[in-house]
Amino acid sequence: MSKKIIIGNWKMNPTSIKEAEKLFGGIAKSISKVNKNTIVICPPFIYLEKLKKLSKKIFLGAQDSFYGESGAFTGEVSGEMLSNLGIKYVILGHSERRALGENNDLINKKIKGIISAGLIPILCIGELERDDNHEYFNFVRNQLLECLNGIPKNLLYKIIIAYEPVWAISTTLNRRDATPLDSREMTIFIRKIISDKLGIKMKSPKIIYGGSVNSKDALGFLEHGGVDGLLVGKASLDVKKFTDIIKTCEVLNK
Ligand code: PEP
Repeated sequence: MSKKIIIGNWKMNPTSIKEAEKLFGGIAKSISKVNKNTIVICPPFIYLEKLKKLSKKIFLGAQDSFYGESGAFTGEVSGEMLSNLGIKYVILGHSERRALGENNDLINKKIKGIISAGLIPILCIGELERDDNHEYFNFVRNQLLECLNGIPKNLLYKIIIAYEPVWAISTTLNRRDATPLDSREMTIFIRKIISDKLGIKMKSPKIIYGGSVNSKDALGFLEHGGVDGLLVGKASLDVKKFTDIIKTCEVLNK
């Protein structure tokens, strides 16, 4: 069984560096002996530098980044800057950023920028709703193809694709639980689109699942959901809940 990747997305939390250090330190301590999988935490930008010094075991990621190395882009942070800070991963195209107006075209430019800065993009895709006519497959295909447009085939494997059905995310109004089967059918679909693009001989990207993952369903998604890892939002803000997920997934390495 190959190593899984478990990523915590802290979103715009917590509100002080003190709390961020406490949360990060608590997670680092709790998994110091058990973890064999790859663990990544994506806090707000301003905590990255300090948290980087607290653990050699946990990788850090950003929640967004702009394309280009530097220049007249007020308020933005480039991949080059993150790379110089020793950051390895960047979430791109999260549904919450898409809801603020980010589109596939912009996400595509950001992915290209992040790859050329030597970082690993975590590209979020996922439908808002599931409809009886299965139009959501077309929606996800379109997101995927537009976001990956023009990226050379030999670089596609560097991207981690996070399938996050928005209807299952914890903050979605009237959310529903997704099942490993929901994840599995979509990951088969995503892998087919990618293999049509790549041909069979190329190394293909990892796919992970996100949407209200908790310690009770984490293992099910990894074992039956067709994914190589998990993207965890709300539960990553709680030392016990997040480390329970990590510890549960540890059995896959035994
Ligand atoms: C997310 O928004 O990326 C996410 C997975 O959140 P949650 O786990 O809280 O549903």
